[in-house]
Amino acid sequence: GADSTASEKYIIGTDTTFAPFEFENDEGDFVGIDIDLLAAIAEDQGFEYELRTLGFNAAVTALEAGQVDGVIAGMSITEEREQKYDFSNPYYSTKTGVAVDPKKGISDLSELKGQQIAVKTGTTGAEYAESIKDEYGFDVKYVEDSATMYQDVLTGNSAAAFEDYAVIQYEITRGMGLEVISQSEEGGQYGFATLKGKQADLVEKFNAGLENLKESGKYDEIISTYLGE
Ligand code: GLN
Repeated sequence: GADSTASEKYIIGTDTTFAPFEFENDEGDFVGIDIDLLAAIAEDQGFEYELRTLGFNAAVTALEAGQVDGVIAGMSITEEREQKYDFSNPYYSTKTGVAVDPKKGISDLSELKGQQIAVKTGTTGAEYAESIKDEYGFDVKYVEDSATMYQDVLTGNSAAAFEDYAVIQYEITRGMGLEVISQSEEGGQYGFATLKGKQADLVEKFNAGLENLKESGKYDEIISTYLGE
C-alpha cells in the first residue's frame, strides 16, 4: 500500500458519484464499471486492494501526496496529465457533454452568454469550459462532485453542466431532467493512473488483467451490465 512496503495491498482512490463508473446503486452498494473492472483485474492478477471513495480531485490530490497507489475514476488520459502520471492502456472513451435544463430553452452554446455554468474541480470538463468561456461569454462555477453539479443546473442556479457525455447521458437515461445540447470535438480515453515512475508493476498488472478481461469477454460483460449491449 501507499505507506507500507511490507503490505501487498494497494490503496486505490476513486470518485464518489460518477455513474455508471462509480456510484451507489438503489440497494446502497457502491458499484460501477471502474469498480467491477478493478475487482476483476485484481482477481485475475492476484493482487489485493482497498478502495477509497474520495471524490475526483481529492483522489488525484491523494495520488500526488502518495496517500493512494492508484486512481480509477473515469480519469481521462491527457498529455498534461501524462507528465505527472503513468496511465494504463485506455479502457473507455467519451467526449465532454454540455447539459442544460430543457425547460430553459437553451439549445446552443452561444445562449450561455452572461450566464453561469457548473463544472467539477480538476476535470477535463472544467478544462474544456475554461477553454471556450471567453468565446461564449459564460462564467465558470466550480463544485466538488457531479451530484452537486447536476443539482446546480436542476435548481436553475447554473445554466449548464460540463460533464463526460457517457456519464451525464447515463443519468438522463435514468430519468434526470437534463438534456445534452453540445459535445466537445475532442474525446478522451479513460485510464487507470499511478504516480509517474512509482508503480510500474501495478500498471503492468492492470494492463495484463485488462487484456485478459477483453479476451475472456468479461470486459464486455461489465460494460453491458451498466450500459446494455
Ligand atoms: N474524465 C474526466 C476527467 O478525467 C472526469 C473524471 C471524473 O469526474 N471522475 O477529468
